Amino acid sequence: MTHISTDLHDLTVAQLAKALAERQVSALETAQHFLARGQTHNALGAFLDTQADVTLAQARAADARLAAGTAGVLDGVPVAHKDIFVTRDFATTAGSKMLKGYQSPFDATVVSRLGTGVPGQGSGAGMVTLGKLNCDEFAMGSANENSAYGPVKNPWDATRTPGGSSGGSAAAVAARLAPAATGTDTGGSIRQPASFCGVTGIKPTYGRASRYGMVAFASSLDQAGPMARTAEDCALLLSAMCGPDADRDSTSLDVPSEDFTRALNDDLAGLRIGVPAEFFGDGLAPDVRAAVDAALKEYEKLGAKLVPISLPRTELSIPVYYIIAPAEASSNLSRFDGVKFGFRADKYTDLSDMYQQTRDQGFGDEVKRRIMIGTYVLSHGYYDAYYLQAQKIRRMIADDFQQAFKLCDVIAGPVAPTVAWKLGGHSDPLTDYLADIFTLPGSLAGLPGMSVPVGFGAEHMPVGMQLIGNYLSESRLLNVAHRFQQATDWHTAKPQGI
Ligand code: GLN
Repeated sequence: MTHISTDLHDLTVAQLAKALAERQVSALETAQHFLARGQTHNALGAFLDTQADVTLAQARAADARLAAGTAGVLDGVPVAHKDIFVTRDFATTAGSKMLKGYQSPFDATVVSRLGTGVPGQGSGAGMVTLGKLNCDEFAMGSANENSAYGPVKNPWDATRTPGGSSGGSAAAVAARLAPAATGTDTGGSIRQPASFCGVTGIKPTYGRASRYGMVAFASSLDQAGPMARTAEDCALLLSAMCGPDADRDSTSLDVPSEDFTRALNDDLAGLRIGVPAEFFGDGLAPDVRAAVDAALKEYEKLGAKLVPISLPRTELSIPVYYIIAPAEASSNLSRFDGVKFGFRADKYTDLSDMYQQTRDQGFGDEVKRRIMIGTYVLSHGYYDAYYLQAQKIRRMIADDFQQAFKLCDVIAGPVAPTVAWKLGGHSDPLTDYLADIFTLPGSLAGLPGMSVPVGFGAEHMPVGMQLIGNYLSESRLLNVAHRFQQATDWHTAKPQGI
């Protein structure tokens, strides 16, 4: 096969798909290249499971489809999945000891759609799976330090967190161990790690991507989305990932899949960008602010208008989220009892002791903390005071966004108040929770949001800008991000030694 001059891992998803379709490179060579890279950079801790024989068999099948002219849109392009998606051919742990060695009998819908398709829903995009990526236990965390399998290192500085909970996904893409990865976002877990690792990520509108086969954390918030180096690549993956799946996920929206690449090049002249005052207060580190301000100026050059707006309940999103998410988690995680899935304690006296020992040994501290908070806020006598109040404020937060979208087309601000902090740098969970302040409001409202690299802050760590759109406006968000990436080159920066 003719070889292309650029290193395969430096190609974007779009470029790789083209090279594969034109048979400049084979899916097998591509898979071999990325598997070898994964081994070279093993010390980052990004991968939890790889199965070279499975990956190579998928690559050979992709080559056969490419040769036969029956290929999917991303046929032969490698992808790696956050270990929160269940997979038939790879172990699924959700970053927890509770699911150590768990082998799912089926693939998550998102995995199938990116792969060879959901039975009965047509063929898939044809991507080749490289393996499963480390994440915080049950996606609870902001630094990937809650994984039972050790933290992931940030490719820009190995002493720092890659962010979380999709830390393995962000690190793998930043270190070019995979051209793209899947992530999930309940309160910021795609956007924040994307920001910390200098990659691009999008969380679609709640219900766009099927939750079938995603290990559940907080069901009214969990959403899957892609992480890649460019908005164009995210658009390609997102187009394949989304679409109705009502038989398997009752909250899946009845909206047909879209081609999210169609509006990428639309002109931004006259675009109204809402800048929420509450996202630029005292808590925002000056280095992050400077990078985000510079990006806003760039948008003005591209013809956009900045509109001051207010999201007055931004601060309340922290207590509201940290009541609702643990409440749902406490209910979702009751299924891990030593009977149905994964781990069971070795020694116990009777059934109730078996449950207790299993849950005590299987769950990590943060997961236990959330189960306790969740059961507390749902308990008789406290339900009205906490859970119900939180639900009411959640609605008000969603309404605030609708007020804001009367004045603007998209909202822009920081993803996180600081750049990636040092591993072990936050000694108490509250500090982590507070750092979620800018991603939680959009999550509670169920809105689509993305993170786009806009420069570097202190110690040359990446800074991401958050773009939030109204429901089902992913195509617009990707367009706004893409035009920025056409005009700047922050997204092409590469960590040293990568
Ligand atoms: N950091 C948030 C949490 O710990 C968000 C996690 C997520 O989006 N999965 O819950």
